[in-house]
Amino acid sequence: MSNYDYLIVGSGLFGSVMAHELKKKKKKILVIEKRAQPGGNIYCEKIEDINVHTYGAHIFHTNNKEVWDFVNSFVSFNNYINSPIANYKGKFYNLPFNMNTFYSLWGVTSPQAAREMIKKQQGEAGIHKSENLEEQAISLVGRDIYETLIKGYTEKQWGRKCTDLPPFIIKRLPVRFTFDNNYFNDRYQGIPIGGYNTLTEKLLTGIETLTNTDFFKDRTYFQSIAKNIIFTGRIDEFYNYEFGKLEYRSLKFETEILDCENYQGNAVINFTDYNTPYTRIIEHKHFEFGTQAKTVISREYPAEWREGTEPFYPINDKANDELHKRYYELTLKEKNVMFGGRLAEYKYYDMDKVIEIALSKAEQLHAKN
Ligand code: FAD
Ligand code: UDP
Repeated sequence: MSNYDYLIVGSGLFGSVMAHELKKKKKKILVIEKRAQPGGNIYCEKIEDINVHTYGAHIFHTNNKEVWDFVNSFVSFNNYINSPIANYKGKFYNLPFNMNTFYSLWGVTSPQAAREMIKKQQGEAGIHKSENLEEQAISLVGRDIYETLIKGYTEKQWGRKCTDLPPFIIKRLPVRFTFDNNYFNDRYQGIPIGGYNTLTEKLLTGIETLTNTDFFKDRTYFQSIAKNIIFTGRIDEFYNYEFGKLEYRSLKFETEILDCENYQGNAVINFTDYNTPYTRIIEHKHFEFGTQAKTVISREYPAEWREGTEPFYPINDKANDELHKRYYELTLKEKNVMFGGRLAEYKYYDMDKVIEIALSKAEQLHAKN
């Protein structure tokens, strides 16, 4: 006997947006979440009155007005603009790659001189087709920037050589010939005022939500209580790893409360050399222009994913993408199970994309039922 129209496995942004949209259509919903709290990776813990991004720094940015209006209907956003600094062996550079970076690196003072420098290095590298991240990076910004700001960071982050990584990862970062340190090109950007938990709480208002509840601990029971399932967990786990395990990249956070008001003067500092074991230090208060007496920082250490750790990033190299495709083909045969989000789709999605897809899939479900 089905008690629910939909069982939603996972309370991250995909699950929460779906739950909210389906509830509007009077569907009976149960959300289950294996962690102790809802929100997935956008969850924040309050420490010293500072919202600490427990699962990694999250900056909301989008070009999609519908998505921006959607999130703003629940919570207002501040005017935080992400402008990380790169620390390479003690010297600081601006990110993303822009005139400030080119000036610090080469002393060039005009866009034309910067373009010429990059063009010269591109020519020397002789790359015609960018088939991996290294080739892509050198052909976008030249060898100096690749060696100083990309290679060490990327090889730490992914635990793989840049020559074994897909080119698209580095295309996430803008390259511009203006003095503009905004990490994103999107029209809308900010941090929810009051923190991301407010967004999660509002999305899940009035929706039955069970935390500390893992779908796989009692799969038969959970499948029996709902007519449909929306699954946002790991797709390979859903299919009992029948074709093998997908790989993920994980992270470890070392979080510290410091008895000083301002530790590093910026929310994000990246350590782009290979030997510093962490990739970045986040000083959480700066996301919300905090003036608390103390500060909280997190050092972010990349780690290979293994069972029991958090699968933060899909590794979209050739082998994993091919494996994922085989699982994806199984999903097409499902009648009452829908898959969505970063883990189930095995895609490197930002928050806005996850919301966009959830809104469109909810719309499709309305049209069907
Ligand atoms: P998740 O947030 O991962 O939610 C999935 C949920 O399902 C989790 O809570 C999980 O516990 C639960 N779950 C899984 N399996 C089960 C199960 N068997 N039973 C019950 N529950 C289960 N995006 C941006 O736009 N800007 C950023 O600055 C940004 N920074 C990021 C930094 C890091 C370190 C990471 C990892 C991601 C970042 N993202 C950022 C991406 C962003 O986190 C995602 O786009 C978004 O949160 C994904 O939502 P989701 O619902 O797909 O997945
Ligand atoms: N990257 C880099 N140097 C930096 C920052 C980023 O080489 O200082 C590369 C790295 O390969 C990373 C990718 O750019 O994986 C995308 O960076 P982004 O900040 O979007 O990563 P995320 O926030 O998703 O961890």
